Amino acid sequence: MEHAATVKPPAVPPALRLEDQRLGYALAQVRKVIGSAGIPDAGFEARQLVMAAAGVTREALLTDPDRTLTNDERLALETMVRRRLSREPLQYVIGQVEFYGRSFKVDSRVLIPRPETELLIEQALAFAGEQNFPAPRVLDIGTGSGVIAVTLATELPASTVVATDISLEALAVAKENAQLLAVAGRIEFVHCSLAAGVSGTFEIVVCNPPYVLTDFLSGPDIQPELGFEPRTALDGGRDGMAVYRPLLGGLDSIIAPGGAAFIEIDPPVTEQCLAEAKSRLPEASVSVLTDLAGLERCLLIELPH
Ligand code: GLN
Repeated sequence: MEHAATVKPPAVPPALRLEDQRLGYALAQVRKVIGSAGIPDAGFEARQLVMAAAGVTREALLTDPDRTLTNDERLALETMVRRRLSREPLQYVIGQVEFYGRSFKVDSRVLIPRPETELLIEQALAFAGEQNFPAPRVLDIGTGSGVIAVTLATELPASTVVATDISLEALAVAKENAQLLAVAGRIEFVHCSLAAGVSGTFEIVVCNPPYVLTDFLSGPDIQPELGFEPRTALDGGRDGMAVYRPLLGGLDSIIAPGGAAFIEIDPPVTEQCLAEAKSRLPEASVSVLTDLAGLERCLLIELPH
């Protein structure tokens, strides 16, 4: 793959060697070694790595800098730093990510949830609040790590949720997250492409499809970290629309009357998504919502009663 060239680490990557096993010293060394490798936010990342390797909270790290690492913790930290220096994303290295105020497990089987996807949650919850559905049925198409499905199941305790993914590996991660957050009993996981294996209709449909342009993923501007994420979760084809087209084409039979779909978009695909949604769902009211940065982030499709 051409793209592989951009993720290659430097020929002789720097490494972490700790002479002193005190937390405060380890933190400073990790910060130095990853900062000098050009990784931004080295201070923040160093804290996350030391916290994960030593199993301590941020408070403990800052208030007890003389606590020493055990040998196992030191080895774990050195391995984690080596992985991060190879540009594996921080979230995979520490095995977790925060989303909508909760901690989720992630690894290279799933896309790392991005903070902008929290907008979908906010909008879906606001809609559920306005409509006051007694027992909303929620569908998350292409659930990945399951953050959207699990967050909505948690925030809407009367809901039942269906979560699909074309990747069995991703579904395994999503199920684990549902168990960790104690909502597995209300989420049905379906292995299928988009909503092909799903029957019935849903008051709330949510989807964060792959939309990155193929050329961008193969281009020189890509962050090396992106190369570690599952390509099928990112690649939206030549025009970014490869997944939106079948997705939008199948929605009319899936959204319940009076229900809505919240679909993540990216500014380069906004116009095409709007046009496609209007032509495929002529009955629906279609609009675009922007995120805190003012970027077009969510396609909202509402079906009349
Ligand atoms: N927002 C992600 C990114 O910019 C892409 C996620 C997606 O394709 N749904 O890398």
